[in-house]
Amino acid sequence: MTETSDLDLVREEYEKQLYDLRQLLEVSKSLNSTLDYHILIDSILLTIMGQMRVLKAGLFAKKGLDATHFSLHRNYKGFDIDHAVNYAIAEDNQLIKLFSRNNRCFTMPEAQERIGSLKGLEGLASLQPTLLVPLKAKGVVNGIIVLGDRIDEAHFEESEKEYVLNIATFAAIAINNAFLFEMTTTDMMTRLKMKHYFYTVLIEKMEHSALSGRPLSVIMIDIDFFKKFNDTYGHSCGDAVLKQVAKILQACIRGMDLAARYGGEEFCILLPDTDRERALIIAERIRKSVADTPSEYEGTRLWVTISLGLAQYNPARDISGKSLIDRADRALYFSKQSGRDRTSAAD
Ligand code: GH3
Ligand code: MG
Ligand code: MG
Repeated sequence: MTETSDLDLVREEYEKQLYDLRQLLEVSKSLNSTLDYHILIDSILLTIMGQMRVLKAGLFAKKGLDATHFSLHRNYKGFDIDHAVNYAIAEDNQLIKLFSRNNRCFTMPEAQERIGSLKGLEGLASLQPTLLVPLKAKGVVNGIIVLGDRIDEAHFEESEKEYVLNIATFAAIAINNAFLFEMTTTDMMTRLKMKHYFYTVLIEKMEHSALSGRPLSVIMIDIDFFKKFNDTYGHSCGDAVLKQVAKILQACIRGMDLAARYGGEEFCILLPDTDRERALIIAERIRKSVADTPSEYEGTRLWVTISLGLAQYNPARDISGKSLIDRADRALYFSKQSGRDRTSAAD
């Protein structure tokens, strides 16, 4: 081999490494640009599929702080999923322990050789993964990425396994951040978003509405005579009712709407692309649904009613999120004054 071709090879190798590093930098930037859990998972899977040239990819992660299993996230790509199969992996499964002890990827046969049995991994095995990539943040496994068939059916080179592990490191940090954000903005009892998060989205949507001219409405909700309810049935029973009301709110709105727990027994809903008349219909649907659906608590069926107030965003009047909320709140106050279990709309 001549000296020139030696140099060419070295240069080629460096260029490849430089390219890989630039790609990693882009991946890191893109993964750190969102805190939305679902968008993030999508972005992680699509990035890895492109970089690793695979046709299928899925991500196993815990669904909540108290989850004891890693579940296959619904944004998986390419896999033929059988909904009768349980794909969950228990956190104390030997595979998770294997990933805790080793910072590397494993093929299924490699993993099986190390842990002996595939007990509890039947769902995972049925996906016929070509490579398992751990997601680790601060040394703790917080997920596993599963890759499927490759476009060119080639084996994974060691350098490729290392490369995907680097992407997974960024992904794990991003997932950890998104997970923490989700936890700190969500009310754990009702699983609804909290007031501060609601305001952040409200301001965004108000700006959008002012620019686009599309309508935007908010509904404020307060449970009627809830203090008396607590005094009569106890606080735990009151909590069960709060959960039930939250569930009904979620069931009555679209994916693009946002229901939040505003405080104690008060809720609020943000309705993009919705004018006053349409918001009234939705509010009434919610009111009736709450009034007609009893909460079950220790074998007893209990009914509550709610009062609602709504307002459509008016860019000329509502100079802040607070002024729009205040108008909806005054309409709610009017509902209370007029006998409760009713909806009022601000002019
Ligand atoms: P009104 O019809 O005028 O709204 O009457 P109210 O009794 O519902 O109004 P008020 O705001 O005076 O009382 C709200 C009560 O909600 C007080 C508190 O005991 C109860 N509450 C607030 N947060 C919680 C909670 O997390 N769990 C339970 N069980 N009760 C709560
Ligand atoms: Mg109240
Ligand atoms: Mg109340």
